[in-house]
Amino acid sequence: MNFQKRVTDKSPHPPGLDTRQAKEILEHSPPVKQSICGWSSTQPRSVREPHPPGLDTRQAKEILEHSPPVKQSIVTLDLEGVLVPEIWIAVAEKTGIKELRRTTREEPDYDKLMRARLQILDQHGLKLADIQQVIGALRPLDGGLAFLRELRALTQVIILSDTFEQFAQPLLRQLEWPTLLCHRLKVIEDRIVGYHIRIPEQKQKAVAALKLLNYHVISAGDSFNDTAMLAEADLGFLFRAPDNIQRQFPQFKAVEAYADLLQLITQARG
Ligand SMILES: [Mg+2]
Repeated sequence: MNFQKRVTDKSPHPPGLDTRQAKEILEHSPPVKQSICGWSSTQPRSVREPHPPGLDTRQAKEILEHSPPVKQSIVTLDLEGVLVPEIWIAVAEKTGIKELRRTTREEPDYDKLMRARLQILDQHGLKLADIQQVIGALRPLDGGLAFLRELRALTQVIILSDTFEQFAQPLLRQLEWPTLLCHRLKVIEDRIVGYHIRIPEQKQKAVAALKLLNYHVISAGDSFNDTAMLAEADLGFLFRAPDNIQRQFPQFKAVEAYADLLQLITQARG
């Protein structure tokens, strides 16, 4: 394939569709889908996509079995508690509402946790702007940015978080804009009226999808909502997890220092 041709093929619409057809599809797409953008100018399609979309798991597995023995690695990381402080604890401290201190570290049912949080916000008349003001004052955990920089120089990193786009932006800026997959709040006139979970179990499903793309996935997180992701990954680590989670999930090696996590990830890449 001619290189020049391949570059022009990297269009914003799927291969095989012309611009008009792609535009028609976009016009009929749901208006609130979260967006993502991909780009590669150096690798041919056969390297970027080990198998075409539309293959079932058995077919994908067959391809994986015939793949080279040394897989490319990718790392997925939780956000809160791993790179930045717990947002809701910060909100609890700033507002003095102690019920907001409850996080995924204590409550395994995320939906129950979020519904309770939104009810508390409403009771106290707290709006999105109030929460964003608190988040704007948060800084990455000590050493978090340096760790992430070093890790991103070593391998590709995706942040998988159960936070929301509206909360994440000031934190992403401070972390030098890593890729983040998360959810979105439903907001009417600055009142948080609900939330859209983009897909249930998104962390675990993202890791499963990366494995189907023939990646060796290494994951790290600190809470109940990370354990399905850690179990799905080729290797999963707990980072600064509370004792109750470490006791309940002894299968995941637990570390406290960024240097130790970096070392484990480096070893896991082989
Ligand atoms: Mg966390």
